[in-house]
Amino acid sequence: MTDVQTVKGVVDSGDLGATLVHEHVFVLGEEYRVNYSEWDEDARVADASRQLQELKELGIDTILDPTVLGLGRYIPRIQKVAEGTDLNIVVATGVYTYDDVPFQFHYTGPKTLFGGPEPMTELFLKDLREGIADTGVRAAFLKCAIEEKGLTPGVERVMRAVGAASAETSAPVTVHTHAGSESGLVAQRVLAEEGVDLGRVVIGHSGDSTDLDYLCKLADAGSYLGMDRFGIDVLLPFEQRVDTIVELCRRGYAEKVVIAHDASCLIDWFPEGLIPQAQPNWNFRHISEDVLPALRERGVSDADIHTILVDNPRRYFE
Ligand SMILES: [Zn+2]
Repeated sequence: MTDVQTVKGVVDSGDLGATLVHEHVFVLGEEYRVNYSEWDEDARVADASRQLQELKELGIDTILDPTVLGLGRYIPRIQKVAEGTDLNIVVATGVYTYDDVPFQFHYTGPKTLFGGPEPMTELFLKDLREGIADTGVRAAFLKCAIEEKGLTPGVERVMRAVGAASAETSAPVTVHTHAGSESGLVAQRVLAEEGVDLGRVVIGHSGDSTDLDYLCKLADAGSYLGMDRFGIDVLLPFEQRVDTIVELCRRGYAEKVVIAHDASCLIDWFPEGLIPQAQPNWNFRHISEDVLPALRERGVSDADIHTILVDNPRRYFE
């Protein structure tokens, strides 16, 4: 068993319970928020706590929140939300970009104007070892992304910095990938080159694919398949998402499957109120209310569901 850092302190990996490996509390641009949005801090925090407590009451004990730089990570607000729920929230460090590095890193680091060591690696290590800013909250895992544009110079720099921090600390990694271009395979190659144990990597958004050859290749290299966008039916419908997990379990891959919705208590990428209309299943209740019953109905055993929800997230940290 291993200590896992959560927003409210250390939890033993054996006590994480049913875990959704990719959910956001807030996806919120702070610069946008202060300039353009109407914001009632107390009401937003209370609403998030309520949504997460509802998730807890549906039988989920822990979420991993990969909201890093580029997605609006702000831990003091997450701490307030965590006070209002029994759900464990595990936070991450890293950078979310599909292309360039943020300007804060453009001019420093290897092969840049001012040179020097990679500043991102140092920041990631600080978040993992000492805590994020002065919050006392430590990140427990790392996040990067590789989208349809592939391994751009900025994406590669972030991925190598994440890899270096993982290799040094053994912290697990989650990668936002684009299944259509099989970018998970590129992520595996680059992370392995940096010394990352691919058994400690979630290939995120693998669940957008029904390509069993691609998925099994990722799993055979040791990584977890993030079947983590349940409810985003516009990218892949519910039936196909469920059927893909059923087939993976039938082939003996339950030990490589993790699940989530990639939902948020609030995301400022879309007009508020649009999601319940356009993507009515994209909410924290969908897995408990619809996905797990559908998996059982199609013959996935309770043992496999326990493996997916409890054992795999635990082993990810051990
Ligand atoms: Zn996400």
